[in-house]
Amino acid sequence: MKSEVERIHLLAEQWSAQDVLRWAFTTFRNHVEIASGFGVEGMVLIDIAARLQPALRVFTVDTDFLFPETYSLIEQVEKRYGIAVERLKPELTPEEQELRHGAKLWSHSPDACCNLRKVEPLRKKLSGLQAWVTSIRRDQTSARATARKVEWDSKFHLVKVNPLVDWTSERVWRYVRKHNVPYNPLHDQNYPSFGCTHCTRSVLPGEDPRSGRWAGFQKTECGLHGPSQDGNLVSEIAPVSSSVSTG
Ligand code: SF4
Repeated sequence: MKSEVERIHLLAEQWSAQDVLRWAFTTFRNHVEIASGFGVEGMVLIDIAARLQPALRVFTVDTDFLFPETYSLIEQVEKRYGIAVERLKPELTPEEQELRHGAKLWSHSPDACCNLRKVEPLRKKLSGLQAWVTSIRRDQTSARATARKVEWDSKFHLVKVNPLVDWTSERVWRYVRKHNVPYNPLHDQNYPSFGCTHCTRSVLPGEDPRSGRWAGFQKTECGLHGPSQDGNLVSEIAPVSSSVSTG
């Protein structure tokens, strides 16, 4: 499969987002699904995909800490496109995480928290697929700069399809306006990028669009894209006493 991916990659770099999606749906049929965090790129991807394949399979990693606006947008998407978005849940509830790893894990060990609440649920999901589709763009982070339209995901061991990888932010917003695609109202409140409430802040004019994510840490990725940042951090965390308050 890896050598076939290498061959397709050379062709796919010339393809449009529609072409890439069409190839993925035809090649992998029921074994390919779209991952979305419901940022504006994710909305564009869903809109393009829905025009090609009405019975879309979309999933999101629901950390339990998403913004109310994001939960509301997910419901809006389900109605508009007539789909059921699968919510991938972490193994631990927020309360169980606090009991096991202490309060506010994200505030001192965000890689470990992301590993528990994002990476592991995703890993479980992807183990049952042959390919996944993401809405990453190359100019978002340094880890994404070398992403290809079709590539082998050596972290999760399946094909990764990135149809919007060569799109700019301007192009994404042009598409949204042209096709009247719904988007998260947080984008109009100086949140160019968002994830969990605990780890996202609005950005100031002129700041890097990703600077509102994990502010105060070197971290720029949650570990879903690019090289592994989480390693075995989770197992390195000593469980704390179960007498820790869950309040
Ligand atoms: S973004 Fe923050 S709260 Fe969400 S999983 Fe990662 S560290 Fe935890």
